[in-house]
Amino acid sequence: MSRHDFDIGVIGGGSGGLTVAAGAARFGAKTLLVEKENALGGDCLHYGCVPSKTLIRTAHVRHLMSHAARYGLPAVDLPPVDFRDVTRRIRSVIAAIQRHDSEERFCALGARVAFGEARFVDEHGIRLNGEVHSAKHWVIATGSSAASAPIPGLDRTPVLTNREIFYLDRLPRSMIVLGAGPVGVEMGQAFRRLGTDIDIVDAAPQILTREDRDMAETVMQVMEAEGVRFRLGASILEVRDLGEEREVVIRTGEKTERLRAEAVLVALGRKANLEGLGLEAIGVEFDGRGLRLDSRLRTTAHSHIYGAGDVTGAYPFTHAAGYEGGIVITNAIFRLPRKADYTYIPWCTYTDPELASIGMNEKTAREAGIKYSLWTENFRDNDRSLAEGEQEGKIKLLLDEKEKPIGIQILGPSAGNLISEWVAALNGGVRLATLAASVHPYPTLGEINKRVAGNFMATKLFSDTVKRGLRFFFSLRGRACESP
Ligand SMILES: Cc1cc2nc3c(=O)[nH]c(=O)nc-3n(C[C@H](O)[C@H](O)[C@H](O)COP(=O)(O)OP(=O)(O)OC[C@H]3O[C@@H](n4cnc5c(N)ncnc54)[C@H](O)[C@@H]3O)c2cc1C
Repeated sequence: MSRHDFDIGVIGGGSGGLTVAAGAARFGAKTLLVEKENALGGDCLHYGCVPSKTLIRTAHVRHLMSHAARYGLPAVDLPPVDFRDVTRRIRSVIAAIQRHDSEERFCALGARVAFGEARFVDEHGIRLNGEVHSAKHWVIATGSSAASAPIPGLDRTPVLTNREIFYLDRLPRSMIVLGAGPVGVEMGQAFRRLGTDIDIVDAAPQILTREDRDMAETVMQVMEAEGVRFRLGASILEVRDLGEEREVVIRTGEKTERLRAEAVLVALGRKANLEGLGLEAIGVEFDGRGLRLDSRLRTTAHSHIYGAGDVTGAYPFTHAAGYEGGIVITNAIFRLPRKADYTYIPWCTYTDPELASIGMNEKTAREAGIKYSLWTENFRDNDRSLAEGEQEGKIKLLLDEKEKPIGIQILGPSAGNLISEWVAALNGGVRLATLAASVHPYPTLGEINKRVAGNFMATKLFSDTVKRGLRFFFSLRGRACESP
């Protein structure tokens, strides 16, 4: 008989926690899942991926409508957006997905769901709604929140974060976005397309700083052409509440500017939700980025307490949280030592065009001192892109010295979907020759994957050595036409 109430307890009912709870319960572990909000799903469902992608789609449709003439249609005069209708659509999409993340579903799987704020009382027990529950293993999957910054006046000014932005009762006339990371640029473009006047401010000299500069710059140019204004390399000196408006004072080089807008969106990165869990008292170490974990995602203080999701401080994505949940299950339930390996974790920024990546880009390869060759293919040479009227962007394929793919970045329409072929190829060790020789349906955006692999293979196939061999064996006589 175990001396604990549960085999495994999970704190946090978001992407990471739900993966662990569902998996553990299905494998027969007595599982407790604790969530402090009154519904499961976490940030991704309520304040992140789902509402943002729903909003982006709505903004995209409006963008297409406002450019109807480009598609050979009569130009239309669009009335202003009623944001309550947009929010209604967001809520309905969330409600449809919520059914998969319901208490009933988890109960049917065998997990007990409890709502309330958990706090460790000792290394095996938590206090929840006045009661103590103990478990042999614990998983901290409490996610992250919008990070703040020590900017004078920021804490005294009403600002928006990802928790409020999808549930506004009207569209802001103007908005200053603090931060040009994925959340800042996705929301900046979407709100601009809905009709908000947008300024995006960032201290870095480039948007989307983890991406290669050429790719990030194309995204920025597209957004600028749509009317978004960027202030890069800018320090934020002060944020002020002027009543009807907010003011953000910035300095770029020698120039000081006072930007004013109806709303300010704070998108300055994420901070792990680890305060208030009583971790200090049980010796679990953490900082603003996340928990201190070993490669099996166990806390350094207690090998039976794990972390999964944004609290790991690794890759702040839902699919990474799911992957980490799987690592925890293998270690805690199967007792098999399995390490987290982030080499092939893909990610995508859902601007238009989208920017998706897997593995190394030029920036990270250079930083790691890896010599690489670069192969590219443009969307403007893809027939389907032309038909769709979406020809901005390209694919970059990086090969190491042994001509093995080490990374792919796709900037273009449906890049997030297109990267999946590379997810399978890299994880499955598929050879470039196989990808280049495989038949893709025509006309599809996906042909760009085959084409970039083909660009590399062509240098082997159509080499002088092969041509010389064919000429020798089959008496081929060479060119029939010379370019004028
Ligand atoms: C605007 C935005 C857009 C995004 N878009 C994407 C995207 O397109 N694709 C993508 O992959 N990722 C996206 N993300 C990131 C994604 O939302 C996160 O990576 C993901 O939600 C992390 O999952 P998690 O389980 O770590 O945390 P969460 O999903 O946030 O779950 C944590 C849960 O823990 C609960 N909790 C916290 N403290 C306690 C406590 N003491 N007791 C009990 N419960 C507690 C919280 O209420 C929450 O429900 C986006 C994020 C934002 C902000």
